[in-house]
Amino acid sequence: MIPLINLKKQFISIQEEILADISQVIESGSYILGPKGEELEKQIAARVGTTEAIAVANGTDALVLTLEALGIGEGDEVITSPFTFFATAEAITRTGATPVFVDVDSATFNIKADTIADKITPATKAIIPVHLFGQPADMDAIMTTASKHGLKVIEDACQAFGAQYKEREVGGIGDAACFSFFPTKNLGTIGDGGIITTSDEALASEIRKLRVHGSNSKYYHEKSGYNSRLDEIHAAILLICLKYIDQWNSQRRLAASRYDNQLAQLKGIETPFKKADRMHTYHLYSLKVHNRDKAVSYLANAQIGSGVYYPCCLHLQEAYQDLGYQQGDFPIAEQLSESLLAIPMHPFLTEEEQNEVIAAIKGMDDIL
Ligand SMILES: *Cc1c(COP(=O)(O)O)cnc(C)c1O
Repeated sequence: MIPLINLKKQFISIQEEILADISQVIESGSYILGPKGEELEKQIAARVGTTEAIAVANGTDALVLTLEALGIGEGDEVITSPFTFFATAEAITRTGATPVFVDVDSATFNIKADTIADKITPATKAIIPVHLFGQPADMDAIMTTASKHGLKVIEDACQAFGAQYKEREVGGIGDAACFSFFPTKNLGTIGDGGIITTSDEALASEIRKLRVHGSNSKYYHEKSGYNSRLDEIHAAILLICLKYIDQWNSQRRLAASRYDNQLAQLKGIETPFKKADRMHTYHLYSLKVHNRDKAVSYLANAQIGSGVYYPCCLHLQEAYQDLGYQQGDFPIAEQLSESLLAIPMHPFLTEEEQNEVIAAIKGMDDIL
């Protein structure tokens, strides 16, 4: 069996370093909001080019706390993509605000920047572009639209740690950016975690307050907040992973180029499109497949893992029935939800394994 991802291989490769640092954390007596977390915040801010980074409990909280700290809530609208993981929109609805969807580009799967302006109303407060599967969204056009209309831009960079837009690392382009350290993410830990990057000091200080019960000084609470902190153990593990992330991302890119070379000419499938001015981190490598259901069962029979991201667009989710969207509202996102199929992609995928995957896909010819 060739799995879609292989987290065990990744963490076993650094197991000794992890165990040593976990022992160090245990012996330090500092378990939450300590020096490891501070060091992680410092290193990530320096990397993405912001003055601040605030580590939190997970990527969803990173989005919720950022929106709330920006004062976004009931009566406000936030523009985002209907083709992303649910948490992007869930964070908006969690604050009481309303997600307003804009269809995506069929080649990059990212929000169509030139149609955002059509959806801006007096209630619009922010745009959340998602760097889907590791390819940065069209940030120049998005930032221009946002500044013209006085909107904040929050990058959902959960799938794109290390990706670059015109040689600038994601996370430092919008007013703020949110990352997830869920195990499967390019930079992940063996549990949950997240971080917000921003150069807006007032925003950062508001987020720091929200993550500890709305408190700046112990047992005095300015407002109701959250318990959303990153454990020292996870900060320690992430500091180790940070040393390897560029190598891991380039191993993903190498694997992607092998797939591109071998699969691009096949009929019935399309390899992912990469914009020339971006560095893609291939969180996922998703093919467009004309007959996806057949392809899924064919690959399963051939003992090759695959995955569907995402089978149901956000505007069609049961949770959002009250938003009043219908099938057909975002035709490109809907089409992608029916045709994308992710094939094995991770930094430890070997060339031999890839050859097996490629051979199996070549053998699918007659079913597509
Ligand atoms: C993973 C993910 C999130 C949520 O992160 P968690 O750490 O799982 O809460 C949000 N947005 C996108 C695009 C993601 O991929």
